[in-house]
Amino acid sequence: MQAASTPLAPVGLVVIQPSRRRHCAGCRRGPLPMLVVEDRAPYCLGCADLGHLVFLPRGDTALTRRAREESGLSVVVVRFNRRKGRYERQGVLVEEAGLARAETRCLADAEARGRRRARDARRRAAQDARFAEAFAAEILRLFPGCPRDRADEIAAHASARGSGRVGRSAA
Ligand SMILES: [Zn+2]
Repeated sequence: MQAASTPLAPVGLVVIQPSRRRHCAGCRRGPLPMLVVEDRAPYCLGCADLGHLVFLPRGDTALTRRAREESGLSVVVVRFNRRKGRYERQGVLVEEAGLARAETRCLADAEARGRRRARDARRRAAQDARFAEAFAAEILRLFPGCPRDRADEIAAHASARGSGRVGRSAA
């Protein structure tokens, strides 16, 4: 294990959101919102050959994971938290096309979830209808004098989910 030196510099290729105003050691542009440190000198993303990447802020873990999978190159973006004394992940830089593919996959998932919910709702509605039918038949068996439409009405009301009036055990 490596001896702890404070603050621990991030390992590997990372992009840093600097807390101080920094200018690029290559093209002198700045202040830089994001930079890469090479040989202790800050460089802008353009000079570091990362200018084609887009920033995806942290927060959506599924999208982030997929964007990194779909992107040929992805780089973690960190910022130093002075209070906690460590670098914290702010998001990732990914290829725009990779991000687009990841967004498409997440959208497809959301659509699939929506379709599943709709199927479940239809199934529940069908179950409610079958239950209402059986319930109405039972009402007519117990009360032969009850008009058919009245029995249907009672059964439909009782079997509607969340009516809270009559439990299903009443059947
Ligand atoms: Zn530069």
